[in-house]
Amino acid sequence: MSGRLLLVLVLVLALGTPACSQAPTTPPDKKPEAKAPAAPAAATAARGVEAGAAPQINAARAMQYVREIVSIGPRPVGSAGHRKLEAYLLTHLKGDQVETDEFTASTPAGTFPMRNYIARYPGTKDGVIVIATHYDTVYSLKNFVGANDGGSGTGLLLELVHQLRTGKREGPSVWLVWLDGEEAFEKWSATDSVYGSRHLAQKWQKDGTAKKIKAFILLDMIGDADLNIDRDSNSTPALLAVVGQAATRLGYQSHFFRREIAAEDDHQPFAAVGVPVADLIDFDYGYGLAFWHTPEDTLDKLSPRSLEIVGNVVLESVRMLGQ
Ligand SMILES: [Zn+2]
Repeated sequence: MSGRLLLVLVLVLALGTPACSQAPTTPPDKKPEAKAPAAPAAATAARGVEAGAAPQINAARAMQYVREIVSIGPRPVGSAGHRKLEAYLLTHLKGDQVETDEFTASTPAGTFPMRNYIARYPGTKDGVIVIATHYDTVYSLKNFVGANDGGSGTGLLLELVHQLRTGKREGPSVWLVWLDGEEAFEKWSATDSVYGSRHLAQKWQKDGTAKKIKAFILLDMIGDADLNIDRDSNSTPALLAVVGQAATRLGYQSHFFRREIAAEDDHQPFAAVGVPVADLIDFDYGYGLAFWHTPEDTLDKLSPRSLEIVGNVVLESVRMLGQ
């Protein structure tokens, strides 16, 4: 993902804990008796009683989706692999409420048809929570399979389908969005990047949808076995705080927000039209970013556990936002 990243890398390590410090030591919904330095089991029990069962991503199934996506090969816009992946997505969304948002994009490499896919899962309350990712891979890299960058989020969203389509869900509706054309065709710039999200954000602003979106959570490069989700300063602080709190509740806080970056990514066009956004991205992929946008971005660098952690934190965040 993320084109040329902004590396304001404020290594926040040690000293003041970053975002996570916002998570109170005692989650607001915990009863006094749970205050004791709760063993994980006790914490889970308290959560189970008061807030429904903890989310359970099927990590093996999520990983299998990523494996199948990667096995398609490179998936840049305009390629056979890209078309194949689109068909694969639609096959797995059969029976769900799916919209194909098709448009034409003008790029430095020519004009291309692009498609965003939106799957809608109704809830019991007003408002919408969007969980998004991009499914294209880098246009200019011919031997690039994007296991993490493109593959991981696309596969995890397919796993989320299973979590969302079962029966009636309490809380706002959740929409899953697979965005096209995130990657630059030549060189990352305001006009050569995030084609799908720019198109969809504009459309949702015009038709009034943007106002209904309570949160837009973006997943990008979340499969790295060495998982460190960065704190993105271009995201909405209040929404990041919810995500940090969800991570803490589930015991995953060590994987979140240790470092701060400013990510240029698919969330920005939505932020620009007034939507609260959070980019969950681990932009520390291989030593010195060695695997990013290289043929090294392969399946062996990923872990089902990372997909599980991020998936569970997203589901927990959705639950908290719905309260
Ligand atoms: Zn990329």
